[in-house]
Parts: sequence; structure tokens; C-alpha cells
Amino acid sequence: MNFEISPQQKEVREEAIEIGSRLFADLPPRSDSASHFDESGWKKLCDSGFAHGFIPKDHGGRGWDTQTKAIALEAFGFACEDNGLALGFSALVCTILPPLITFGSQEQISKYLPRLLSGETIAADCITEPHAGSDAMAMESFAQRNESGYLLNGEKAYIGFAPVADLLLVYAKTDPNAGPWGLSAFLVDCPNPGIHKSDNIEKLGLRTLPMGDLTFTDCQISESARLGEEGTGLSLFNESMEWERALILASQVGVLARQLEDTVEFSKKRKQFKKPISQFQSVSNRIADMRLRLENCKLHLYRSAWLIDQGKSIAAEAAMTKLTISEAFLASSTDAMRIHGAVGYLSGSATERNLRDSVGGVLYAGTSDIQRNLIARLTGI
Ligand SMILES: Cc1cc2nc3c(=O)[nH]c(=O)nc-3n(C[C@H](O)[C@H](O)[C@H](O)COP(=O)(O)OP(=O)(O)OC[C@H]3O[C@@H](n4cnc5c(N)ncnc54)[C@H](O)[C@@H]3O)c2cc1C
Repeated sequence: MNFEISPQQKEVREEAIEIGSRLFADLPPRSDSASHFDESGWKKLCDSGFAHGFIPKDHGGRGWDTQTKAIALEAFGFACEDNGLALGFSALVCTILPPLITFGSQEQISKYLPRLLSGETIAADCITEPHAGSDAMAMESFAQRNESGYLLNGEKAYIGFAPVADLLLVYAKTDPNAGPWGLSAFLVDCPNPGIHKSDNIEKLGLRTLPMGDLTFTDCQISESARLGEEGTGLSLFNESMEWERALILASQVGVLARQLEDTVEFSKKRKQFKKPISQFQSVSNRIADMRLRLENCKLHLYRSAWLIDQGKSIAAEAAMTKLTISEAFLASSTDAMRIHGAVGYLSGSATERNLRDSVGGVLYAGTSDIQRNLIARLTGI
């Protein structure tokens, strides 16, 4: 495994930092006191061409390897302080584009890829249901075959981008008696008279990424909307999940680096008892822990990306990467808050916002408990 960053990866990192900081500087001033989605910011991000790096060359992209993609997302997260926007972009390139490119028909790829890359189409990944969260395979959404394709019924909950989505990647049962092999995936266009979208749901953090619920009532979809063969939803789900767990939090590794820089600087400037607080060991120990977490996250992220590039299975490594980064962001955001004191607690400060934004990571893409279950199972328990 080579941890040296190549000259090409260095260029990609600089490009991602330039795009992330330019985009963040252009975003309108905001307090994120309530949830809102800035469509023009999303469009600008798509117009930058950044997403093309995540597309293979034979589909018109720049064909970055996975290590380069990880470096690019990390650098973007470092530069763009809008963590919701960074997560939304990560969701596009980690949960929507890979299954489309891997399992999509030529017709589906030609129809959706250009529109997703240009930002004309916004897509949502729809797995979770009101009664099927961690136990995703208990989902009840059902796509029943009929003469025109499938009739989809069911509910999806807590779906990122749902209120503004034009395209839904929906997982549903096609054979309720076939256990996990009765699951299929569909690309469903909006609007459709059988789809009801909730309004944007308010949440603790990541407020610039809209979230909502979806109800499907006799929603007619064509056979050509199915992604992959009928009954292959589980393989699609597992492959996408490994990818997602390995890379979706890469941008947060960048946030950990930014947060560390800010906190070091603050601790050197802030004086109490006539000295910079950085000189108190309780404070410097926290800084050391933040650095350690950052380095651990990098090792896990780069190792997972390297393993993907070697064509190896990454089930355990992906779970370890997701667990390590999400818990690190939460723990380091708490440490940053303690070091900043009351000024970090004020609404609108980066310290307060990062802490709120960090909580979601231990829940989505499988909670930390679920990652631990997976790691234990893959360790022979
Ligand atoms: C910010 C955010 C964005 C999201 N975006 C999406 C999205 O775009 N698409 C989508 O489909 N979903 C999305 N989700 C939903 C997310 O995937 C679920 O929240 C997650 O799978 C957990 O399900 P749950 O919330 O129903 O919790 P539950 O599954 O009800 O879990 C509740 C608690 O029980 C624990 N628990 C449950 N089962 C076990 C077990 N077997 N062993 C140990 N502990 C267990 C959990 O760890 C948790 O602590 C998002 C969630 C958040 C917070």
C-alpha cells in the first residue's frame, strides 16, 4: 500500500480545495437556523465538473481511481464549510452514480448520467422505512408486477434530498416470499401521480441537505425502470453499501483537519490565567486526541480506497472506516467545543455547527452499533 500522494493526486487535491473554497465563499450568508437547500449552490458545484472525476473514462469522465476519489472528497470537505452540501455531493458520487454505472443498462446510463452530472436531475437513495431502519431487509415496500411493469406501494423515511428529488433509487420487495433474494432496485422518475413527497423535515444538523419522507400509492413504473435483474437488489445493496461506508464520510476527514487547525489556532490565542490555554495539559491532550483521530481516519480511508482499487472485498474495512470517521467527528467536535468554551457554544459558530452536523454520521449508512455488529461477525463471531 502506497501512502505517497502522486503528483496527479496532488493536483486533484488542489483543484478540490479551490472548488470547495470558491463555492463556499459564493454561498449566501446563512445561519442554518432552519433547514434549506440552496439549489444554485448545487448547480454551481455540478457546473464545476468536479463530479466527472468520479466517472470512468469510458462514460466520459476523468476516471480517477478510488484513492484519488477519497483524496478529492477529503479536500473538498476541508475547503467547503457547508457540511450538508459536502454530504449531498458525497451521496451523489457514492450512493447514486456507482450503482447506476455498475448495474444500469446503456439506456439508463445515457438517460440519467448527463443530467445527474449537470445538476439538472437531483437523486435520492431510498432504503429506510418507518419500520425498517437498521433492519433494512425488513422493508415492506412492494413492487408488484403488472402488464405495464410494476405497481409500487410503500413508504420511505428520512431520505436525503427527498423533497427536491427528480429521481429516486428505490429498493423494494418484488417477491416477499424469497427473503433477501426477493429484493429489487428501481430508478423512479418524479413527478409521478403515485408519489407523495413530504416537505423538508427539520433536523439537528446537516440542515443544508434537505430530508423528507416518501409515500408510494399504486405508483406505476415501467419494467425498464428496474436497475439490474429482478431479485438482485441485495447484491446491489451490499455492493453499494460497501462503497458508501468506505467513502461517504471522506469529506468529514477534511472537516477534522480544518477543525484541528482552527482549534490549535484558537487555543494559542485565547489566554486565561495569563497564559494561552494551549499551555494547559488538559487542553493540549485534547488537541493530541484530535490529531490522533484525524490520522486514524486517514489510515482507514486510504486503506479502504486502496483495497477497492486492488479489487478486494472491503466489507470489514468499509465498516471500520465508517465507524472510525463518524465517531471521530463526533468526539473531536465535542473536544473542539470544550476548548472553545462558551464562544463555541453560540449559535452560528463553526464549532457549534460542526457538533450538530457530526451527530448524523453515527446514524446514517448504518449506525455505529450496526458497524460493530458487522465487524464482529467478520471477525468470526
Ligand atoms: C442525516 C441522515 C440522513 C439519512 N439519509 C438517508 C437516505 O438518504 N436514505 C435512506 O434510506 N436512509 C437515510 N437515513 C436513515 C438512516 O439510514 C437510518 O437512520 C439508520 O439506518 C438507522 O435506522 P433508524 O433511524 O430507524 O434506527 P433503528 O434501526 O430503529 O435503531 C435505533 C437504535 O437501535 C440500535 N439497533 C438497532 N438494531 C440493532 C442491532 N441489531 N444491534 C445493535 N443495535 C441495534 C441502533 O444502533 C440505534 O441505536 C438518514 C438518516 C440520517 C440521520
